[in-house]
Amino acid sequence: MKKWRCKVCGYIHEGDAPPETCPVCGVGASEFVLVEDEPAAADADGQDGEPAGKSTVSRLAERLKFVDKVHGHPVSVHIPNGVLPLSFLFLLLAVILKSDAMATAARLNTFFVALAMPVALFTGFVDWLNRYDGKWTRPFAVKVVCGAVATVLVAVLAIWWLVEPDICRGSVGSLAVFVILYVIACGAVGLAGFYGGKLVFRE
Ligand code: FE
Repeated sequence: MKKWRCKVCGYIHEGDAPPETCPVCGVGASEFVLVEDEPAAADADGQDGEPAGKSTVSRLAERLKFVDKVHGHPVSVHIPNGVLPLSFLFLLLAVILKSDAMATAARLNTFFVALAMPVALFTGFVDWLNRYDGKWTRPFAVKVVCGAVATVLVAVLAIWWLVEPDICRGSVGSLAVFVILYVIACGAVGLAGFYGGKLVFRE
């Protein structure tokens, strides 16, 4: 049985031929190299008419490598993935217990997530350039859509909290919309995190 390694994410496939698409990062069969042939394949790549100068993507990736070195993305994404569901829990408790303290906790935590979102997006972009060569495949598209949805919704929620700090005492209708926005935002960060885990753990 031959072993094939995905050059983009490192996934190992066993079989006579590489898979049509990588089950982890989604790139095509041409991105797979036979494990025993790797040094030879790398040599061939070099002679294969690759431009002598580095591409804009790899130059940018190199310049931003420090973000990757300190694991900027996995560190920063734990803020939306951890704190957003917590804010939602505080919101539910504020409504159920009619607690102003819980509403304040929900509000402040949501502000914190809103401020962290740009960092999570930026570090994710750098990771994508550095670790996955800026390849545009399904897992990255899902992560980008989820990140964008979460960023917009968290911004809307933060602004809503600013405009209407007493939302928990407001009408049931607007509170229901508020809760639905939290649910969608939590789902989006969860799905982005799921794909992140799939890319990191390659399963
Ligand atoms: Fe892959």
